[in-house]
Amino acid sequence: MLPVRGRDGRATRAAHILRVRTAWTPVGDGEFYCPGCGGDRNYQRLTGRRRLTLLGVPLLPRGTAGPVVECAACRHHYGTDVLDHPTTRRFSAMLRDAVHTVALAVLAAGGTSSRTALETAAAAVRAAGFDGCTEEQLAALVDALAADTGRVLGAECGTSLTIELHEALDPLAPHLAPAGRESLLLQAARIALADGPYTPAERDALTTVGAALTICADDVTRLLAAARTPS
Ligand SMILES: [Zn+2]
Repeated sequence: MLPVRGRDGRATRAAHILRVRTAWTPVGDGEFYCPGCGGDRNYQRLTGRRRLTLLGVPLLPRGTAGPVVECAACRHHYGTDVLDHPTTRRFSAMLRDAVHTVALAVLAAGGTSSRTALETAAAAVRAAGFDGCTEEQLAALVDALAADTGRVLGAECGTSLTIELHEALDPLAPHLAPAGRESLLLQAARIALADGPYTPAERDALTTVGAALTICADDVTRLLAAARTPS
């Protein structure tokens, strides 16, 4: 029995002395949303080289490790796919831009002659974070947009707005919960309804908003109907 115990002891001691250690080298940095801390933090992007060490002295290379992302606050390591998630700051900016673009699209479809539609739109844009947004600013933007696209071709107006909507909403949609996507469409619907029932052009614009938010057609129809029922 004794020799066996002795061999085990040597093996355990050897494992303590002989180790694979990773030396990390910073290759970049930035700000990210740390899932460990649950907030915006600085990070370092690291690549590693593994080495077999004897009593801490490197003996043999054992390949590369990483790249990983290290949180400056909690020091946890994550795969680089963690950078696909926008920071809270970036997410707020995307949401603010999305509400602004959606409001412009609905106003462009319904016209800027209705004061109540402009007021509803400006209130939504201000609530999203553009504190100084006024009815006049929105009206001027919509008129400029109409003049700009009208100069090219009347029929292309819808196309250019569709592109604008997709640019604002496509990067945002995957990071929004279903309730968040629906709330954005309902906000747009309320702007359209502020001056009366949906016009065909408004319905088209709202359908485009719904599609860009990856809400299925049936749900878009249901939500547009629900928005018409005063709560
Ligand atoms: Zn962290």
